[in-house]
Amino acid sequence: MAAKIIDGKAVSAAVKEQVRAEIERDCIKAGLAVVIVGDDPASRVYVNNKKKACELCGIKSFEYALPAETTQEELLELVDTLNNDDNVDGILVQLPLPKHLDEGAVIERISPKKDVDAFHESNVGKIMIGSYAFLPCTPAGCMELIHSTGVDVAGKECVVIGRSNIVGKPMAMLLLHENGTVTVCHSKTKNLAEVCARADILVAAVGRPNFVTADMVKEGAVVIDVGINRLENGKLCGDVKFDEVSEKAGWITPVPGGVGPMTIAMLMKNTLTAAKQKKQ
Ligand code: NDP
Repeated sequence: MAAKIIDGKAVSAAVKEQVRAEIERDCIKAGLAVVIVGDDPASRVYVNNKKKACELCGIKSFEYALPAETTQEELLELVDTLNNDDNVDGILVQLPLPKHLDEGAVIERISPKKDVDAFHESNVGKIMIGSYAFLPCTPAGCMELIHSTGVDVAGKECVVIGRSNIVGKPMAMLLLHENGTVTVCHSKTKNLAEVCARADILVAAVGRPNFVTADMVKEGAVVIDVGINRLENGKLCGDVKFDEVSEKAGWITPVPGGVGPMTIAMLMKNTLTAAKQKKQ
């Protein structure tokens, strides 16, 4: 039987609408500063999408487009200025930064209260202990998509493929917080196909096109495809071989139109959270 498609566009639209409605209802002033260094075309597209989402939600957006040759000191100075700006509730520095800049040092300079990406060590630590204000946008978006299926995570076998700091590890932690039995796989995992085939909930964050095939998927599983891979023909494709896996899974996210739109929606939610916390 063919899987039900999890519609990331619809779920993300609903999250953004909730944010917009709350901002309007409670007359909240929220602002997001987005810093982009250099002229990477993919980063430019992401920044423009973030700007559009802010407009939709009633969040003021401040864009800082800096030249590729910006120095570490100049960038840190801007972060300091934004940390001290009352109109700015969230700060997002678009990654990757040009090679001569130290991403880690920049992230650590952002005030944890304005770290709407939840990449700062202090926010990462809070996720570990389950007491957090912000969740990293992509894993949080994946959780919203899982919730939208009505499948309860508690007690389920959950397998995450990938252990990056921005997707795999926090994803595993969020599933664990909801009482899933979680296995994290990576490039050294043995018998990967067998491990994945045990999963009631399978999250692929590998960065390899068509990596997850039907033999790796349990009948009826929820399959969340985080991967965004560009093929030689210019088309986008996920980490999951959609055609065959969708014949076996119970639920599946498409690429595009699955996890991708959720990331920005969760960023809007985090910015609202930051603005509300400032008022407290
Ligand atoms: P990373 O490259 O940082 O991590 C990839 C992970 O996959 C690593 O942990 C790696 O293992 C694992 N891996 C690689 N090859 C294999 C293999 N053969 N078998 C098992 N595991 C393997 O990627 P990210 O986590 O940053 O991103 C993953 C994907 O998600 C990418 O396609 C990215 O574009 C996409 N993405 C999408 C977002 C969205 O908004 N939808 C946001 C962020 C990312 P090891 O640690 O051992 O090397």
